[in-house]
Amino acid sequence: MNDGAAGRKLVVSLHDATPFHLDRLRKAEGVFRDLGLAKVTYLFVPEYHGGYPAAADAGFRTWCREDRPFAVDWHLHGYHHIEKPEEAGTAAAGDYLKRKLLTGGEGEFLALDAAAQRRKLEAGRESFRACLGQDPMGFVAPAWLFNTELIPTLRESGFHFTEDQRRMYRVDDGASLASPVITWATRTWLRKYGSLVVCPTLARLWVNEPVLRVAMHPFDFDHAETLANIKSVLRRVMRGREQAFAGDLEF
Ligand SMILES: [Zn+2]
Repeated sequence: MNDGAAGRKLVVSLHDATPFHLDRLRKAEGVFRDLGLAKVTYLFVPEYHGGYPAAADAGFRTWCREDRPFAVDWHLHGYHHIEKPEEAGTAAAGDYLKRKLLTGGEGEFLALDAAAQRRKLEAGRESFRACLGQDPMGFVAPAWLFNTELIPTLRESGFHFTEDQRRMYRVDDGASLASPVITWATRTWLRKYGSLVVCPTLARLWVNEPVLRVAMHPFDFDHAETLANIKSVLRRVMRGREQAFAGDLEF
């Protein structure tokens, strides 16, 4: 017989930290504080959709460095957070419309070759440094979509952690850890109301998973029903789990 909750981990993340979403991010932080979360991973977007350069926004830079009643581990999260087909090369650009249909156009890293990925990682690191005064330890591809070039490129570029929708990866040696993720959708009516049923169901189904992730997006905080659902799922999964960052986990 195992001893129940011992050793089970919870990794909570807030996606899409960008000046575009600053009001929503503040709202999310109020929720985290009220729930008593201890650790939240924030995913930093350098230039959201090409129009919101984080490093050029003094108010956003100040917000990045604010004290919070919980610990924050910042990771880099794409560069534009939207696919620019002209960056992918001709062969890959041909499939752009198909990918757009599947990813909503958010699969920024999916079709990029290693050189294009490296350029975005370096530019992203500059913006990250300007806002946070440190280098990113981890990188999360927008929509968790990437190709086989990403992990070797991250390793060369000095990143240590990444993740997709099923697993977390330690980049240095390629080790990975099963860690399913609960996340809400709000883009369409069907997905929004589907999430309100699916997310609590997953929280029950995955109660014995050694590592569980909960990922939230700024738009979630515009929807009262989604927000209530998030709070209820977080309260449930916080019980009996130790909150963790990628660097705390044993791969
Ligand atoms: Zn994102």
